[in-house]
Amino acid sequence: MRTQRIVFEKVSVKANKTVKCSGGCGRSRRLTKKFTQTINPFNKTKAGVVKTREDIYPELHAAAAKWKEQPETCLHCRIDASKGQRRSRS
Ligand SMILES: [Zn+2]
Repeated sequence: MRTQRIVFEKVSVKANKTVKCSGGCGRSRRLTKKFTQTINPFNKTKAGVVKTREDIYPELHAAAAKWKEQPETCLHCRIDASKGQRRSRS
């Protein structure tokens, strides 16, 4: 049996955001995230049609917009928060 190697085309959108840390330390966080979907026979729209770039791009942009609205906590505040949790549990 021959194995067939299919390379699916990737569609990606890169997003950047700069947000103030939600931990209250006043630091700003700059983040970059890549949103990717592949064009493949299993990636279909609600109508059951294989997605094209034109279908995928708006979805990736929507996901990026959602991500941009999410609050972010810096590493320092996350460490403080986990320390606090440990302290309260004991
Ligand atoms: Zn912080």
